[in-house]
Amino acid sequence: MNIDCDGANWQRKIDMKLKGKNITQVLGINRRNFVKFFVGGVIGTGLSPFPWKLTDDLAIWTQNWPWVPVPPVDEMTHEKSLCKLCPGGCGIEVRKAGERAVKIEGRSDYPVNAGGLCPVGMGGLQLLYNEGNRFTGPMKRIGLRGSGDFQEISWEEALDMLAARISFYRENGKPESIVAIDGNTIESTMSLMVERLIKAIGSTNYMRIPSSVDTSRMVDLLMQGNRGPTTYDMENSDYILSFGCGLLDGWGSPGRVFNAWRTWKAPPLKDKIRIVQVESRASDTASKADQWIPARPGTESALALGLAHIIIKERAYDRDFVENMTFGFSDWESPYGNTHKGFASMVLEGYSPSRVADITGIEEKDIVSLARDFAMAGAPLALCGKGKGRLNGSIYEFMAVRALNALVGNINQPGGIIIQDPIPLAQLPDIELDLIAEKGLKNPRIDRSGSRRYPFSHSLFNNFSEAVLTSNQAPVNILLVFSSNPCFTLPDGGDLRRAMEKIPFIVSFSPYRDETAYMSDLVLPDHTYLEKKDDVVWPSGLQYPLYGLTRPVVDPLYNTKNSGDVILRLAKMLQGSVKASFPWHDYEDVLKIRAKGLFDSGEGLTMYDGAPPECTTFDEMWKRINTGGLWYRPGKFRKKPEDLFNTASGKFEFFSTRIKDAFNNWDPEDMGALTIGDEAFMPHYELSEADSREGLFPLRMVPYEIINLASGWQPSPPYLTKILFDNQLLKTDSFAEVNPETAAKLDVEEGDMVSVISPKGKIQARVHVFEGAMPGIVYMLLGLGHWAYDDFLRGKGVNPNDIIDGGLDPLSGQPVWWDTPVRLVKV
Ligand code: SF4
Repeated sequence: MNIDCDGANWQRKIDMKLKGKNITQVLGINRRNFVKFFVGGVIGTGLSPFPWKLTDDLAIWTQNWPWVPVPPVDEMTHEKSLCKLCPGGCGIEVRKAGERAVKIEGRSDYPVNAGGLCPVGMGGLQLLYNEGNRFTGPMKRIGLRGSGDFQEISWEEALDMLAARISFYRENGKPESIVAIDGNTIESTMSLMVERLIKAIGSTNYMRIPSSVDTSRMVDLLMQGNRGPTTYDMENSDYILSFGCGLLDGWGSPGRVFNAWRTWKAPPLKDKIRIVQVESRASDTASKADQWIPARPGTESALALGLAHIIIKERAYDRDFVENMTFGFSDWESPYGNTHKGFASMVLEGYSPSRVADITGIEEKDIVSLARDFAMAGAPLALCGKGKGRLNGSIYEFMAVRALNALVGNINQPGGIIIQDPIPLAQLPDIELDLIAEKGLKNPRIDRSGSRRYPFSHSLFNNFSEAVLTSNQAPVNILLVFSSNPCFTLPDGGDLRRAMEKIPFIVSFSPYRDETAYMSDLVLPDHTYLEKKDDVVWPSGLQYPLYGLTRPVVDPLYNTKNSGDVILRLAKMLQGSVKASFPWHDYEDVLKIRAKGLFDSGEGLTMYDGAPPECTTFDEMWKRINTGGLWYRPGKFRKKPEDLFNTASGKFEFFSTRIKDAFNNWDPEDMGALTIGDEAFMPHYELSEADSREGLFPLRMVPYEIINLASGWQPSPPYLTKILFDNQLLKTDSFAEVNPETAAKLDVEEGDMVSVISPKGKIQARVHVFEGAMPGIVYMLLGLGHWAYDDFLRGKGVNPNDIIDGGLDPLSGQPVWWDTPVRLVKV
């Protein structure tokens, strides 16, 4: 099925009836919702549906909500800062009445979002002023794990407790049993602080929450030889082929993507840019795209290679780029005389339109026309990363999409992929390891990432949980959790939560009463992003390097501390390499040391609007960044062609020599690949593990995300659960979306209560019959199902992460969260 979303065709081809409304009416509601929040943020609230839905409730509810800002009569001021509720890094302006923050608005003098703001960002004050969802000071657990029963203690007692335990395990030769889980974004100063702390202690077990950015970076290395970040010049593309990216659902840096979308849909670009969405469900992005290609979940790589088949067969690829700048396109012979299959032979033999049609469910003629459209576009760009891109992707799928971009030669071209140099932040000095740390660092990682079996992944939570769950004595004695809520957000079927039961001492640094904090023995609460200074380094997917700072727009409300300062204080209480590695007075010192690299680079701009003279000293620049400025380097194509690729061949590699090297002396099957031979070193399609479980579990569950609900570590502002549609959350019930055909087969109707059962467990939800759902698939909304927090968030819906069980992605070893085998049973 290929659905052309243009005008009459859209009406003719999709006749989606939903509660008596046709799809256009339904989409109209969504459209207004987007317009209100994103398209410049200038449309009045009257155009948005949610105020109407809220009107009844608000009168009653708001009188009782403790965190609703009640503006005092006082002088109005405005403070500029940044939002950190997702990796998007939007600029915000906080309106204050006296000392009370009363409103958050988007900044028009910030290049990321240029005035727009999403619903989560708008609700930031509900997270700030909400004692029910925040920790008011350091806490020690007094009830059962998960009960949320804590007792407030002093910072001295809390830090003494932690320092004593760390010292004990270091002195007893077990520093490697101290583990950190970190949700801070890659390259942020906090992520360096946490990684440094763990290393200085003597442990290799620093674990970062994986995301699609990591998958993209792995593919940067495997095919381009650079360590990224690779970014996309979306604004100058004329054909966006999105493989599942929720462009209107919070993908990448949402403020930037929405601004791009606005320019695509308004004169003079209107009707000149084509947006094609490959996704099995009629998401908001698919519904608003020019064309929707509903490929079966997990078959995106096959579709990308099917398009490559047509492009190669019709010789529609960029011959100059492919012949001069790539390796492994044609069959080749190694220096030892071995012949190898090239990418062209592989896709011509294995990815014919008929085979790809069988795999993906897309008709042959649509595959052919899609390939031709893509190849014929002036600046075609293929994007990858499902939903918000918050979770990992599949390496081979990302490679297939990257190969498609290389075929049309849009690397280092306007409207294409930009291979970037790292942002020029200064390095922190090396750690001087003491003997304890040196010995500890010789131990392998608990999660086996970086080993010969998993050479390309940095953190594998499934392996970590398994190691803890299957050991008689947990290999972890202390678990430190920063800026993350893995018990809720990991797509692991609840494994980490079960593993945590076996870990003797868990410390959370969360400001919020989240699920992971509830599993902790000690809580050392951080400030929220509105109460502290911290950096935002290169927001997710932004097309140029950018550095900005959050700042305390209000004084800390409670007895909380910036986790950066807490690490420094803790380090001073420890001995040896830990103490020596953190000589700084406070966290701002560390931020400044790194930011000085920006000044020393002699590049970049420090103001977005106007052209004030650039700073002549670093102090001047730091002051400017601190008062709402930023550092950014908007120049796009900086690399000479000969400097683009840092691979063994010096070219873009369709055939990855890095994967080949990793497979040397290894059977690819041992690395999770089902494919053997040369194909294993190139992008290819592999059957899903879910296929082998079809008997007991005939359906697939696909979780999805929406822009109106936070699904990462930061909780949703409570009002967001009130603006969901009644087929997303009804009182406390989540919904399992199924196609009418699937509903008929299962003999279930709209509103029926069902159990969604996977090999990992079951959750209950009401049925929502939706023609935009693919037959055979059950769609579940992410972001609901909290069991911690207060009454406004707790117990609202279910969390599909609790039953995810899709097996492992070959090569990366990361979870296949987008394809869990399930069955539905009427309750
Ligand atoms: S898109 Fe992300 S950074 Fe921007 S306002 Fe929303 S939550 Fe904040």
